[in-house]
Amino acid sequence: MNTNTKNRNIEYTACPSCGSSEISKKFSAKDYTVSSEHFEVWHCAQCEIRFTQHIPVEEEVGAYYQSEEYISHSNTSKGLVNRLYQTVRNLTLKQKRNWVQKVSGRDSGKILDIGCGTGEFLSTMKAARWETLGLEPDPSARAQAQNNHGLQVHEQDHLFDLSKANFDIISMWHVLEHVHRLHPYLDQIQEVLKPEGRLIIAVPNYQSKDADIYQEHWAAYDVPRHLYHFSPKGMEMLLEAHGFELVQKKLMPFDSFYVSMLSEKYKHGNSRLFAAFISGLKSWMQGRRDVNRSSSVIYLAKKKA
Ligand SMILES: [Zn+2]
Repeated sequence: MNTNTKNRNIEYTACPSCGSSEISKKFSAKDYTVSSEHFEVWHCAQCEIRFTQHIPVEEEVGAYYQSEEYISHSNTSKGLVNRLYQTVRNLTLKQKRNWVQKVSGRDSGKILDIGCGTGEFLSTMKAARWETLGLEPDPSARAQAQNNHGLQVHEQDHLFDLSKANFDIISMWHVLEHVHRLHPYLDQIQEVLKPEGRLIIAVPNYQSKDADIYQEHWAAYDVPRHLYHFSPKGMEMLLEAHGFELVQKKLMPFDSFYVSMLSEKYKHGNSRLFAAFISGLKSWMQGRRDVNRSSSVIYLAKKKA
């Protein structure tokens, strides 16, 4: 095999979000869940987002998702951290649904969930009589969403086949940081969202308290699967550049604890529950005072008038 076709990487010479050339390396982070490889995390001085340098091309990134521990795409409940994640996810599903209904001002409507995984969130929406559509790149997650919940789910590129002004809500829960074609995706999302629709994007926040505590061991860097590490300022600029206006930023409270548990494991080799709890608590309290310090932030946006 020609070595040039193997392990093809992308080297950014400008910020992948805002295009600025004021970029510099911050540190190296390890892929703790799959490859044990190291990847550089770079910083943009203009929009303050960080990004993973030398990421695998889109066609080859799949190898970095091949892990039983990579649970976002499956429903295994092995291990304490995973069990906690599952429990919390179930608790938060109804909260998410209530919040979506509140911010959309609707009891029902049409929702597109991009990166729907095994479909738990969409299933909750469907049970509340929403018309649902899911997009998911992982075939086994897609099959589970279809078989377990009877959901309509397509591959991710189906996004570009959808008709204009189609959805009341488009949601991406911890998904945008995985998307190679960041700008085409956001442009197309803008097209298929109804004029009065709402866009919901939840992403980790490297400017959080827990990211401060764990530095390069912070679990939500999750290189190379997380291509971008968004800041509140960078996200606002990115949304603006694609014709959106930020309406609200919201804390995702449980992420402080979950990410702290994983980060403890990465840094010290075990989950050190008490230390993780203290870090999680500090992060959660700071996030409550200032959402810009929250472990993950939910961004709610509407189309610019
Ligand atoms: Zn930038």
